[in-house]
Amino acid sequence: MKQIVILSGKGGTGKTTVAAALAHLASQEATVTMVDADVDAANLELLLAPEKLETHQFVGGKVASIDQERCTDCGACIGLCRFEAVKRSSSGLEVDPVACEGCASCYYQCPAEAIRMEDQVAGLWYRSDTRFGPLFHAYLYPAAENSGKLVTLLKQQARQSAEDEKLDYLLVDGPPGIGCPVIAACSGMDLALLVTEPTVAGVHDLRRILDTVQHFRVPAVVAINKCDLNTDRRREIQSLCDAQGILLVAQIPFDTAVTRAMVHGRVVTEAADGETSRGLHHLWECLR
Ligand code: SF4
Ligand code: SF4
Repeated sequence: MKQIVILSGKGGTGKTTVAAALAHLASQEATVTMVDADVDAANLELLLAPEKLETHQFVGGKVASIDQERCTDCGACIGLCRFEAVKRSSSGLEVDPVACEGCASCYYQCPAEAIRMEDQVAGLWYRSDTRFGPLFHAYLYPAAENSGKLVTLLKQQARQSAEDEKLDYLLVDGPPGIGCPVIAACSGMDLALLVTEPTVAGVHDLRRILDTVQHFRVPAVVAINKCDLNTDRRREIQSLCDAQGILLVAQIPFDTAVTRAMVHGRVVTEAADGETSRGLHHLWECLR
């Protein structure tokens, strides 16, 4: 099984559009499992219209809870908590579950053993079916943390399922940025496709994501999406790739056909055969 993660460093480059098109093209000739690892703002499902087969709770960590029966109201936990998560209310002391970081300082130091550390359900994850193959995706609750842990969970589930069913490809639509969920998305992958755009921010964030994947020793190739937006910035990306010995595998022009396809819930390679679709076909030829 070949495992490819699609990353961008910067949001808005068209990473998910490219990921969905690659899933479509892969499914034409092979079997593919997909992961939407952009768990803070999952949107691959908008294009793939998944039918949910399984729903599971995601336990993101622990949160403190005060047993009012045992609490002697000594107030020690208020001073102990560096996150100001313990508040006094009309019914006694309470923990704000959004502010609580789950450090357990209060749990270990409460003289009355009145504090419990409870599982915090931070979201839901799903195994779904789509017209291109299985999709593993998630919904992280507002203000919930541990998105890196959730990405790791999704990848483990997808990889296990793909291995059990002997599928050919695992495609991971990664999150933007270079933080913990991105590291979770790229770890252990065979190849990172970095989708960038010819803008100042696109070039800046391409450098950052290149540093990140190189640090974790994941081989990378680059595709420039909307390549005709700015010739100078496009050349800058080409020079950057040349200087670092990174293969520039595709340059995909801007095309309103992408938007028109999206409006109808389809990916551009399903809906149109123009220059953009041809660019994506070429990209898949380079990756497969
Ligand atoms: S430290 Fe324990 S006993 Fe004291 S106020 Fe907090 S929960 Fe209550
Ligand atoms: S677990 Fe840590 S963050 Fe949460 S209330 Fe206790 S001391 Fe504060």
